[in-house]
Amino acid sequence: MLTRDIRTLGNCHEGYLIRIGEHGIADNGQGGVLQPRARWPDGAIAIGYWHEVPVAVLSEPGDEHWLPARHWLGALPEQSFGLLSTALQIVRWSQDHRFCGRCGTRMRRRSGEFMMACPTCSFRSYPRISPCIITLVTWRDQLLLARSPRFPTGRFSTLAGFIEPGESAEEAVRREVFEEVGVRVGRVSYFKSQSWPMPHSFMMGFYAEAASRELHIDGIEIEAADWFTADQLPGLPPSYSISSALIENFLRGSAVRE
Ligand SMILES: [Zn+2]
Repeated sequence: MLTRDIRTLGNCHEGYLIRIGEHGIADNGQGGVLQPRARWPDGAIAIGYWHEVPVAVLSEPGDEHWLPARHWLGALPEQSFGLLSTALQIVRWSQDHRFCGRCGTRMRRRSGEFMMACPTCSFRSYPRISPCIITLVTWRDQLLLARSPRFPTGRFSTLAGFIEPGESAEEAVRREVFEEVGVRVGRVSYFKSQSWPMPHSFMMGFYAEAASRELHIDGIEIEAADWFTADQLPGLPPSYSISSALIENFLRGSAVRE
């Protein structure tokens, strides 16, 4: 587990380093991403402790041999998910918020917290987190799964979408399901959440019981959708995703809060 006490890391300059490039993450030569360093390079950002050793992340151009983040999320043990998710999101924040969004001055990062401040107008920037709902719509023992044109061939998944300003998560579940597949849902129940670093989503997982069954797909975000049962499932999302957890938990016959 990543220990997130970054207040104590303000003056720390050594420990593990995770190097993140434009298309991937550097290998440490032993099938992992944590590289021991006697001194972190300039620009490294401390993100916490891994088994009591400080960890920093560095944004670099990288090279074509670095394996993509999705590879590492699938290859490393489940406890590494939070470490990688944090590292990827902090790098993205450092790249996307270099200048003040209000006045255009170059931002300055504060040590000991995830915060950048504008020296001209005092505007503050924190890592962006985008709340999303992700929901498995069910009808008795059937699962409503859909595919986006962006998915690998044959894969179907649960429905997901960003929560809009002023909207509750439950309202977003009802709106997204109706927009994407034309289904009205009845009871909505919370499952669990997952921080998803593609690039900075916060996925809130729900089960939604269908109140209507006929599908009308939007043809844009969703290119195909159907009702499935446990004995005739399509290709499913990767095991480290909350989408997979929603599906597997339902199939185990316990569509309740974990
Ligand atoms: Zn400013």
